[in-house]
Amino acid sequence: IRGFYIGRFQPYHYGHESVIKHIAEEVDEIVIGIGSAQLSHSPNNPFTAGERVLMVTHALEESVSLPFYVIPIEDIQRNALWVSHARSISPPFNEVYSSNPLVVRLFRESGTEVISPEMYERENYSGTEIRRRMLAGEDWQSLVPPVVAGVINETDGVRRLHDVSGSD
Ligand code: ATP
Ligand code: MG
Repeated sequence: IRGFYIGRFQPYHYGHESVIKHIAEEVDEIVIGIGSAQLSHSPNNPFTAGERVLMVTHALEESVSLPFYVIPIEDIQRNALWVSHARSISPPFNEVYSSNPLVVRLFRESGTEVISPEMYERENYSGTEIRRRMLAGEDWQSLVPPVVAGVINETDGVRRLHDVSGSD
């Protein structure tokens, strides 16, 4: 069984990790889709697809022992075609793990089995909360694996988030 999990990972955090560890117990290989891959340098999407590939790859190297593939997936303007679009650029997969209602809906309509994992401390472990803390100068490092904080610091990510959140 090859499982598929998609997120924007802006940034990758321990909530994602708890889901992926759970998926790893049920499948033989994992495909991670990096969603909205074309977006970067904006308040809600500060990191590039390449930076997110690094975050996810380094984090999974440390937390799962199965083969995994990290595939950037750009948005398209037609939700009705999105499942075909995602499948066209991903290794084949037979199970989808998602709690996102639109993703669940689109895959179920296409006849794909979808499993919805439980949320892990969603108040703290969310991309929105982490980006808020970065801008507020509060602790965010404790919400992400150290290798992810390393990628963010290497790219001066917090300062980038400040810059792209400002106005002239
Ligand atoms: P944002 O706040 O920017 O939307 P996010 O934390 O929701 O970030 P996404 O990349 O949008 O992260 O989410 C990818 C997937 O991970 C989604 O299906 C989302 O429901 C799930 N997810 C996010 N946070 C958690 C968590 N704490 N526990 C379990 N699943 C989570
Ligand atoms: Mg989200």
